[in-house]
Amino acid sequence: MEITKEHKQWLVDFELNHPLVIAGPCSAETEEQVLKIAHELKNSDVSIFRAGIWKPRTRPGGFEGVGEIGLKWLQKAKGETGLLMATEVANANHVKLALEHDIDVLWIGARTTVNPFAVQEIADALKDTDKIVLVKNPVNPDLSLWIGGVERLYNAGIKKLGVIHRGFSTYEKTKFRNNPEWQIAIDLQNKFPNLPLICDPSHITGRRDMIQEVSQQALDLNYDGLIIETHIDPDNAWSDAAQQVTPATLKQIFVDLKMRKETD
Ligand code: PEP
Ligand code: MN
Repeated sequence: MEITKEHKQWLVDFELNHPLVIAGPCSAETEEQVLKIAHELKNSDVSIFRAGIWKPRTRPGGFEGVGEIGLKWLQKAKGETGLLMATEVANANHVKLALEHDIDVLWIGARTTVNPFAVQEIADALKDTDKIVLVKNPVNPDLSLWIGGVERLYNAGIKKLGVIHRGFSTYEKTKFRNNPEWQIAIDLQNKFPNLPLICDPSHITGRRDMIQEVSQQALDLNYDGLIIETHIDPDNAWSDAAQQVTPATLKQIFVDLKMRKETD
């Protein structure tokens, strides 16, 4: 597999900012919530709106997402704001529905990257489409599984690729929700220097007061982008309430971040 500059070209073609900023709620909850957040994020540093509509929860009993109807809300948000739309897919049926609703960016979640059969099924369903596909690291600190996910998409002819570093599960107590293990992401970056690397400080930290610090670390390490969960009413979010920030806080984060100068 040879990931060339071509695989990064989508950042240029879509005229996306550097760093690339993806923001939006952990979960789409209602049409009104999706539209309100999307409107607050347009005309800002944000290029891509994220919202999960199928939510793989570790334990049963939690909110598992609104499902297909959420795709219509994303389509509407795209029409009203011009933002590109991103959602998580975990099987071939999700891919089929996302393609039918013209979702621009599909991401593979951490609980899916661990499962080669699921990743392969997604890759087959996406075969030769021109969608942007982002692969989150697997929940466990296994670089090969992460690389394997990227390879399966590459082999299916996906040209617009990227990876999201969202930290790794550990049984030890740390200050992070998911331990960053920066070296794993750096090893991936060294192996594929032309693969856009995006940091997810929301799932790494699990706490909104640490988003700024981890985002800065990622930019200092020359990451290409950030994906930050953003909600109009974070405390009452239906999932991941403690880590979401308001659109106003997101704007402030970008005012405070020190940007790295482009070197090439
Ligand atoms: C998410 O992005 O909301 C999500 C479920 O993330 P992860 O797959 O990284 O846990
Ligand atoms: Mn989340």
